[in-house]
Amino acid sequence: MNCPFHVKLYQHQPRSYKELPIRWTEMGTVYRYEKSGVLHGLTRVRGFTQDDAHIICTPEQLEAELVETLDLTLYILQTFGFEDFEMNLSIRDPEDKSKFIGSDSDWQQAEAALKTAMAKVGYKDKFVLDVGGAVFYGPKIDVKVADSLGRMWQLSTIQVDFNLPGRFKMTYVGQDGQKHEPFMIHRALLGSLERFMGVYIEHTAGAFPVWLAPVQLVVVPISQDQRQYGQAVVKELKTAGLRVELDDRALSMQKRIREAELQKVPYVVVLGDKEVQAKKVNLRTRGQQQTQLLNLKALIAKIKQAVEEKIQQ
Ligand code: ZN
Repeated sequence: MNCPFHVKLYQHQPRSYKELPIRWTEMGTVYRYEKSGVLHGLTRVRGFTQDDAHIICTPEQLEAELVETLDLTLYILQTFGFEDFEMNLSIRDPEDKSKFIGSDSDWQQAEAALKTAMAKVGYKDKFVLDVGGAVFYGPKIDVKVADSLGRMWQLSTIQVDFNLPGRFKMTYVGQDGQKHEPFMIHRALLGSLERFMGVYIEHTAGAFPVWLAPVQLVVVPISQDQRQYGQAVVKELKTAGLRVELDDRALSMQKRIREAELQKVPYVVVLGDKEVQAKKVNLRTRGQQQTQLLNLKALIAKIKQAVEEKIQQ
C-alpha cells in the first residue's frame, strides 16, 4: 500500500490547520499474491497500479472533502461513459464493535458525513447498506459501475480512516494552538488501472471514443496514384496533433477499410482521384453508413471537437 509514504511526507514538518486539507495523489504500484486459480485477464492480477490518494483534513472538513471526492468520482466515471452506478456504504456493526477501532463519536461523524455526501451527489437513500462491512479503521463507500452488458464491477473506493493518524501520531496545530489528530481519507477513483482497462474494453467492446482511441484515423489511398496525397494528409493531421496511420499496403481498398473497422478505428478517410483533385477527403465514421466529403481543415475541426467534447461515439 502507498498510505505510509504519504504519512511520512505529512510528518516531515509540523502542520498547521491552515495547511489542511492536504490532498496527495500518486500512481502507486501494489502487489497481492493472488492464487493462480483466481487470476483473470486484466481484472484480477498480482501487480497493479492504483490511482491512490490521501486527503488529510480536520474533522470539520471531512464532509466537504467527501462530497468533493464523490463528485470527482462520478464526473470521471461519467466522462468514460458509465451511467449506471451502485453506491455501497459499509458501516460498523453496532452489535459487534470488537472488530473495529476508533471512538463511537468518530464512527458516528464519519458515517453521517458519508451519507450526507451521497445525498449531495444525488444518492440520498439510494445506496446499498452493508452493516459490518466497514474496514476495521473506518466506514467506506464503494462505487460499482454497470458495463454495457449490465455486469457490475467495483472500481472506486473512498474510505475514512481513524487508525493511521493515531498509530502514526499525526497531528496538526489547531486554531486554539493545541495539537489535534487529523482525519484521513483514502481514495482510488479508477481503482486498479489494469482492472479499469479490462472493464473499459469490455464495456466499449474495444470501440474507444475518439479521445481515447490509440489510432483515431486511418488514411486509405485507393491506389498508388493517391499515395503522395495520402502522405501529405497524414503529415498535416499529425501536425494538428491527431493519432493517424497511413495504410498504403498493396491490398484492396475494401480489405484495408474492413481491417480498420475490425480494429474499431473511429475514422477512415478514403482518397481517390476525385479527392486528390478537390484537395478533400472522403470520411467514413465508425458505425455510420454515410460518408462525408470534407476539406482537411473541416476534418481536423470535426475530430478536435469530438475529442474536446469527449463524445461517446
Ligand atoms: Zn491509503
